[in-house]
Amino acid sequence: MPKIGINIATGSLQQTEMIVGIDLGTTNSLVAIVHPDTRTPFVLKDQSGLALIPSILHIGKQGNITVGEAARPFLQTEPAQTIFSVKRLMGKSYQDLAKSQDLFTYKFSEEDREGLVKIQVEQQYFSPIELSSFILRELKSRAEHMLKTPVSKAVITVPAYFNDAQRQATRDAGKLAGLDVLRIINEPTAASLAYGLGVSAAESKTIAVYDLGGGTFDVSILQINNGIFEVLSTHGDTYLGGDDVDRAIVDFWLQQIPEVQGPQKENSTTLQSYRLAAIQVKHQLTTHPIAEGIVEGQTFSLDQTQLEQIVMPLVERTLNCCQQALVDAKLAVQNIDEVVLVGGSTRMPAIKKKVTAFFGRPVHDTLDPDQVVALGAAIQADILAGNNKDFLLLDITPLSLGIETIGGLMDVLIPRNAKIPSRIARQYTTQQDGQDSMRIAVYQGERDMVQDNRKLGEFNLTGIPGMPAGLPKVEVAFVINADGILTVRAKELRSGVEQQIAIKPQYGLTDHEVERLLLESITHAKDDISKRALVEARTEGEQLMKTTEKFVTKHAALLSKEELSATAAAMQALQLALTMQDKSLINQRMEALNEISRPYAERVMDRAVSAALSGQKIK
Ligand code: ADP
Ligand code: MG
Repeated sequence: MPKIGINIATGSLQQTEMIVGIDLGTTNSLVAIVHPDTRTPFVLKDQSGLALIPSILHIGKQGNITVGEAARPFLQTEPAQTIFSVKRLMGKSYQDLAKSQDLFTYKFSEEDREGLVKIQVEQQYFSPIELSSFILRELKSRAEHMLKTPVSKAVITVPAYFNDAQRQATRDAGKLAGLDVLRIINEPTAASLAYGLGVSAAESKTIAVYDLGGGTFDVSILQINNGIFEVLSTHGDTYLGGDDVDRAIVDFWLQQIPEVQGPQKENSTTLQSYRLAAIQVKHQLTTHPIAEGIVEGQTFSLDQTQLEQIVMPLVERTLNCCQQALVDAKLAVQNIDEVVLVGGSTRMPAIKKKVTAFFGRPVHDTLDPDQVVALGAAIQADILAGNNKDFLLLDITPLSLGIETIGGLMDVLIPRNAKIPSRIARQYTTQQDGQDSMRIAVYQGERDMVQDNRKLGEFNLTGIPGMPAGLPKVEVAFVINADGILTVRAKELRSGVEQQIAIKPQYGLTDHEVERLLLESITHAKDDISKRALVEARTEGEQLMKTTEKFVTKHAALLSKEELSATAAAMQALQLALTMQDKSLINQRMEALNEISRPYAERVMDRAVSAALSGQKIK
């Protein structure tokens, strides 16, 4: 059902709500959408036609903040107040970063060494979450300006190797920027989506995504099965990228200057000019065989072959990571079906050539490599907006969802990897006579015991009319809508009493956590099966104790003294077994108790039957 919103800016009715896709990069950030008419994803550009917003922030003396291209000149003039690479700081503590303080021109506050790092700019303190939120706010306002409509929902990408804390920090940054972050997705997954890989339902493919950006390199091996993406392995170097190429070009040029001019080299402003010229030349070499830059009146040139030589040691390092990623995924290079290039630095012809040779197959490079991630995020956003029904397969529950049943067992209602939207209902009943409420505890996970899974929430279904145990029919329904919101409803069908809660299953659950929970379920599978068997035996044993007791109390007059004492002894033995961790002992003692009770139970039943028959005769 399409939602109709009102555009506050124009007062016009808006048919569908725009959800934007955001690539929050270390060097550059972008925002993209799927065009509502043409159905193609595209990146939103500013008035001057620029798609990339440099991830740079300048903090003014009065706390005024400049983001993007306008902040770049301050890298040179006010380095201590100009923040770059904030993505590297996400979810990190001061201790995590202290040893790399030298790589940053701004200061990490030393006041709290244990907690999450703060950036100190004179007397002002900022968390990486706040700083990222300023970049996101800039992207949000760019989108609103271009689309002439408020934007409040987004999909944001993160590297596949981001951990729990880093993902949560990214989510929080979105929230702080006034964005409802519907989903955090992996950058390589987004890039694959942008190339339409994994689109058709029956597709099963292994993809290598090679991402060489400004300051970081990573490669991920993904597996797509029926529209489900799984990261098999990821490797990389968080200090390897285009910045290294720039530095290497500067070094190459400086070697050509006579030593007499040496002192000038130490001057950081001069170095910065060299760096800017190097970047320009590097970019030109993508389309020209040779390019020139001018620094302080002197001309420096570089040709393709020279760039290739400069880049070679860096490429070698990236290919080692690729090899490692293959080993971790337990795959050979021949198993890779598709190779996707991501990141501005993959524009360099030398990189393309080497990566193609390494994987022995043509690479996907037709899209702008610095836009692919944002484009993929936009596609994911479009799917979440419900505009692309063909893609619903991509939305799956990462872990099973279920409720706690007797003995702390997990009863799965929606299995892992189920498609969403999804709905399932199952009936339960009460354990005690006259039980007037039922606790519904919702869990996520693959283990048999709820204590090993993750609790999502619980509620009480109250007001069940008094009935004998087993008689009430409580229907528990799980409904997951396309946004991934789970609603759990419990209804006692005889009386109609009803209660429900809404749960966001995804919230705070990172891919890493999902992975951990899945791995645990595999390693504990055997353990879990025996535990489940024990719990089931106990539940059955307790049930038998209850029914036997009821029976004996009701029909005591019809039982012999021996039968009564034998029953009491067998019950005592079973009671003891129930407290032990031995399933077969419980079963054995249940059998023993049944042996004793069977003869008199039959006798009593026969009597009841003949009484009923004789009764009929009389009347
Ligand atoms: P990140 O993902 O780290 O934010 P990007 O993917 O935007 O980074 O890549 C930025 C890097 O790409 C910069 O180092 C930039 O110099 C480099 N780059 C962009 N275009 C080219 C090009 N034509 N040739 C070589 N390098 C390029
Ligand atoms: Mg990137």
